[in-house]
Amino acid sequence: MEKYIVSALKYRPTNFKSVVGQKSLTSTLKNAIANNKLAHAYLFCGPRGVGKTSCARIFAKTINCLSPTADGEPCNHCESCLAFNEQRSYDIYELDAASNNSVDDIRQLVEQVYIPPQIGKYKVYIIDEIHMLSTSAFNAFLKTLEEPPEYAIFILATTEKHKIIPTILSRCQIYDFKRITAEDMVDHLTFVAKSEGYTVEPEALNLIALKADGAMRDALSIFDQMVSFTSGHITYRSVLDNLNVLDYEYYFRLTDYLLANQVKESLLLFNEILAKGFDGNPFITGLASHFRDLLVSKDPSTVALLEVGAGIRKQYQEQAQKCPEKFLFKAMKLCNDCDLNYRLSRNKRLLVELTLIELAQLTQSNDAGGGDDDEGPGPRPKTVIKPIFNKQQSSPRTTKAVPTPAPVNPGNTAKPKSDTAKNVAAKSEQSSESIEDTLLRINHIDRKKVPVMDNSHLGFSIKHSLSDTQTNPSAVPVGEASQDNHVFQSEDFSENDLIKCWNIYIEHLPIEQTAISKRMQSTQPKLLEDKTSFEMIVENEIVAKDFKAIAPSVQKFMRKELHNDNIKVKIRMSAPHETVRMLSRSEKFKMMSDKNKALIDLKNEFGLELF
Ligand SMILES: [Zn+2]
Repeated sequence: MEKYIVSALKYRPTNFKSVVGQKSLTSTLKNAIANNKLAHAYLFCGPRGVGKTSCARIFAKTINCLSPTADGEPCNHCESCLAFNEQRSYDIYELDAASNNSVDDIRQLVEQVYIPPQIGKYKVYIIDEIHMLSTSAFNAFLKTLEEPPEYAIFILATTEKHKIIPTILSRCQIYDFKRITAEDMVDHLTFVAKSEGYTVEPEALNLIALKADGAMRDALSIFDQMVSFTSGHITYRSVLDNLNVLDYEYYFRLTDYLLANQVKESLLLFNEILAKGFDGNPFITGLASHFRDLLVSKDPSTVALLEVGAGIRKQYQEQAQKCPEKFLFKAMKLCNDCDLNYRLSRNKRLLVELTLIELAQLTQSNDAGGGDDDEGPGPRPKTVIKPIFNKQQSSPRTTKAVPTPAPVNPGNTAKPKSDTAKNVAAKSEQSSESIEDTLLRINHIDRKKVPVMDNSHLGFSIKHSLSDTQTNPSAVPVGEASQDNHVFQSEDFSENDLIKCWNIYIEHLPIEQTAISKRMQSTQPKLLEDKTSFEMIVENEIVAKDFKAIAPSVQKFMRKELHNDNIKVKIRMSAPHETVRMLSRSEKFKMMSDKNKALIDLKNEFGLELF
């Protein structure tokens, strides 16, 4: 049986012509050889797998070739070429600085430099991953690079140009290798497939090219994998399944839904995608790329930026015609925001779903197609999510969330606690709750359970309790005077109960009230000595104003949940040296790092972020 050689090796380029996707660069190198204008040092930069080392080898071989061809390629027949191809050339050295980065490794190399070449005209040193050299190795090398013998040529390669010190950069001719385009990769893969006698679908190769993301070596190794999975019959479907790549079709379908404002269909499709084992993050970045591809498909001048196969190109152009440009701009922005927030989000699925809901409403409002607001850079104006599901007062869903009032019970004893704090907490933790339910529940809590009250007659003032200034501090609690069947309650509760309810209240605040919710999270209510009043302690007038606005609904909520109608809310400004706020994470970190500076280094070294 024939020995199996991986395609990346078997089809490794042996002359400039066979280098994939670096035409302008290889012709510059060829010209330099033809005009005999060789530098002593070259720096090849670029991402991995784009042909840096291959080009370095071909370059080394060509300048030593005894009879180069008319168009500047190595002959591959002369003694120098053969010696190189058989890896026995003494004139061409390769060093992988990733694994040989010590000062001794470099010294060994430097010693060799002063021995003249045997067959060819030049001694060529190819140092791969040059940025990996240790500092002392770098310094040892620098001397040789400054004053090399006539016949020595260095070709340095790196994926991280920014790590190369200026003294080296200034002594090198720099060549920037670019990512290989999907089209070039597909061409090369087609060539390989043809040479090996495999059958392939063009779209399948395109998927492989996209997955390889500009690196030919990766594309070839994925190709090899696919060959072994499919016994040489590579179809689009088989690549989709094996690479776990999301089908374009999903994005086309989803975009149609979004354009038609079909929220439910979009959410269901996302569910289907999750069920197939895809993660939310690649999904949303893929969606962003899809919008980007649609955008470039709209205009003939940018259509060249579209990196897809010919078959699917038409589909992009067709869908692009249906998308208003503004829709695409905003959609890309929304997806990008979602991607940025993804890692920090605790409920990642919800984040993606909210993004989809917003996306599905872009063409609904009049501003998506016609011009009004927010073009250009700068922060996105606050998006108000419009109600998606109709809230019908009489619908069973709405009534479901209304807690049954405690039954009339003369004597005020042994009331059933139908809606204790615990119950509410348990309810809110139910993970099976759909978005629809959550939205309804939040709406319900916001609008129904906590009646909107006119604050003016309550006359809040800082340092005065709510009820102190009430015009009618009667036994009947605020806002409940008109309710029938209400029995006055005065159960005992602890500060812990209070804090629990406080947290539940925060949890149920609608999204629009994030600011106040954050403020409430950073402080805690304090139960006062009378065991029925509690304080909301604030730091300044601005926070006081916010808390004042929300105080009536907090009070009402607490009375209901803690079964005590005597509960009163007070707002108090903190004393100058009183710490009312719990420290935020960044404040805690600052306090700790003030004591131990090494924490900052640790954070920077690993690129840590505070969650
Ligand atoms: Zn030759």
